[in-house]
Amino acid sequence: MQSFSYARPASLDSAIATFAEGGEGTRLLAGGTTLYDLMKLDVERPERIVDINGLAELSTIDTSGDELVFGALARMSDVAADPRLADEFPALSEALWKAASQQLRNMASLGGNLLQQTRCAYFRHGEPFACNKRSPGSGCSAIEGLNRGHALFGGSDACIATYPGDFAVALIAFDAEVDVAGPDGERTIPVSDLHRQPGDNPEAETVLMPGEIIIRIRVPADAVGRGSTYHKIRDRESYAFAVVSAAAAVRLEAGVVADARLALGGVATVPWRAREAEHSLIGTALTAETARAVGEIAFADAVTREHNAFKVELGANVVRDALLIASGRA
Ligand SMILES: Cc1cc2nc3c(=O)[nH]c(=O)nc-3n(C[C@H](O)[C@H](O)[C@H](O)COP(=O)(O)OP(=O)(O)OC[C@H]3O[C@@H](n4cnc5c(N)ncnc54)[C@H](O)[C@@H]3O)c2cc1C
Ligand code: SF4
Repeated sequence: MQSFSYARPASLDSAIATFAEGGEGTRLLAGGTTLYDLMKLDVERPERIVDINGLAELSTIDTSGDELVFGALARMSDVAADPRLADEFPALSEALWKAASQQLRNMASLGGNLLQQTRCAYFRHGEPFACNKRSPGSGCSAIEGLNRGHALFGGSDACIATYPGDFAVALIAFDAEVDVAGPDGERTIPVSDLHRQPGDNPEAETVLMPGEIIIRIRVPADAVGRGSTYHKIRDRESYAFAVVSAAAAVRLEAGVVADARLALGGVATVPWRAREAEHSLIGTALTAETARAVGEIAFADAVTREHNAFKVELGANVVRDALLIASGRA
């Protein structure tokens, strides 16, 4: 590990200035559960670390108003346990509970969770494997290599790495937004626009500008949230990333679907909203058959590779089961 300088600013303005002036070699430190991991693997080699844990205003949780507001430094376990979130958006609470381990959730922040990097083994372990995300222009070892965990949606000839997080998948189903602050002031970004598909530049993972810090996440109150679930299939039942997941929500009127949300995890380069499948739900009475048909629509455009084609069948079933759980709660 290379040596680095460390700063712990006492104000947001100072954090932004320190982050911006440090340039490309600077990284923010929140819970450190991703950053330290990648530093030990030599994927991240920061020259300067800006520790934002002194910014108490980024840790607040306010679920008393028309929107639920979570500071970027709020810890995953605290947010998962928020009673209003669990009641009105079980999918969001479950997405947090089903991520990582209790120890990690106690330490990890929401902002860091949104910005965690792919678990593609070629990216994490590097030499002698080519990886465009790690070393731009070097090639992609996964496309012709071991790609069981890789993306069916949103990939390019340069990269097919899966976005690994759970929370962002559930957030996009409810049109959540992040507020960010940077050298040019504050702006708001829909969570659905925060991550970039790889295209020709897989190393550029988000739309954040240099020096920008996520300060809070806002979820608009929405009745559809009550009939929701985050259904996550993993290789083992705990402490594992999604092989396939679905955040599903429905609102029923007279037994048929009046509003629906569906987002997929573990299968795309970014958190993936399945809008065509959502639209197909409107006006239907949910049964195992109709829910499975929606799952097939959600995976109809999947681009499969040698080892990940199984996710199409699995994914259609995950969507079916998620919709049935959600409608049972609606
Ligand atoms: C063994 C293991 C299993 C895991 N399993 C899961 C899982 O099943 N599901 C899941 O979703 N996650 C999982 N994770 C990932 C874990 O949830 C993330 O590591 C964690 O949420 C990151 O948060 P952090 O605060 O520790 O981020 P850090 O490590 O501090 O930061 C991560 C990145 O985000 C940047 N960053 C942090 N905060 C901000 C901010 N406010 N603004 C801008 N940039 C910021 C940092 O600079 C860094 O690049 C797992 C992690 C491990 C180690
Ligand atoms: S899928 Fe992306 S992260 Fe993985 S080896 Fe290819 S370029 Fe690198």
